[in-house]
Order: sequence, then C-alpha cells, then structure tokens
Amino acid sequence: MTEQTLMLIKPDGVKRAMIGNIINRVENKGYRIIDMKMVVPTEQLLNKHYAEHVGKSFYPALLEYMTSGPVVVMIGEGTNVVSGWRAMMGETNPTSAMPGTIRGDLGREWDEPAMMNVVHGSDSVTTAKYEISLWFD
Ligand code: UDP
Ligand code: MG
Repeated sequence: MTEQTLMLIKPDGVKRAMIGNIINRVENKGYRIIDMKMVVPTEQLLNKHYAEHVGKSFYPALLEYMTSGPVVVMIGEGTNVVSGWRAMMGETNPTSAMPGTIRGDLGREWDEPAMMNVVHGSDSVTTAKYEISLWFD
C-alpha cells in the first residue's frame, strides 16, 4: 500500500550537517519526498507531537533538545514507507541501533537525560496522518 510518513531530521542532525546524508538515504532507498521545510518547533507543537511522552522523566530534556534549533520536516511517500523508514532509522537507543541504520551510523548516547536522536519517524499509518496534519497544518 502506498503510504505517507512524517520524517524529521532533529536539531543534532541539522547542527552536525547531516541533512544531505539523511536525504540521500531516503532517495537512494527510492522513497519520494513530497514536501519539506525547516522550522524551530514550538513547545505547543511538541506537546502534541510527543503527547505519549508528556510527563515522563526524560520529557523536559527532550523538549529542550527539540527546541534547541531548526529541524527538517519532510513527508516521505512509498509502499509501506511507515515501517520502511522505521527500519532505516534503527531502534530508539542509538547505542543498540544496528550499524547501517541512521541512528546506528550517525549518533550515539551522551551523558544527558534525553537521547539526542538524529531522526524521527511516525510509528503507524494512523500516527503518520496525525503527525503530518500537525506539522503541515
Ligand atoms: N527518548 C528518550 N529516552 C527514552 C525514550 C525516548 O530520550 O527513554 C527520546 C528519544 O529522543 C526518542 C524520543 O524520545 O527518539 C521519542 O521516543 P519514542 O519511544 O517514541 O522513540 P522513537 O519513536 O523516536 O523511536
Ligand atoms: Mg515514537
């Protein structure tokens, strides 16, 4: 099934000049980028985007990280792109994310309360629709 998903290059990926590397991977894989912009997300937007995490111990640090600079916001499209992009990202913890994945190749853990992952991807088709409407009005 052709799907769409929300892809974010988070502040650490932008600051460390990994936009091209990450977009290359998306295009090399064959997914289409059908919309793209760069924004510094607001706290209100992030509270909706990360609603499932509001109140968790790492949430204040995650908020601080995500508002620390611009993020690249993209809509990716392709057959089963939701799970395909999650597979390309690798697992949440960059220490255990497999080499070859974006999180495995381009990031690591630091002595910080939140994990500074370089990318985000929607975790289901339903979440993707919600997140795309949130970030692109
Ligand atoms: N996160 C964290 N500590 C945790 C879990 C999550 O710092 O114990 C951060 C991390 O940056 C992650 C984001 O919160 O990317 C969202 O967490 P989620 O469980 O949704 O992981 P993801 O969908 O990004 O793989
Ligand atoms: Mg998630």
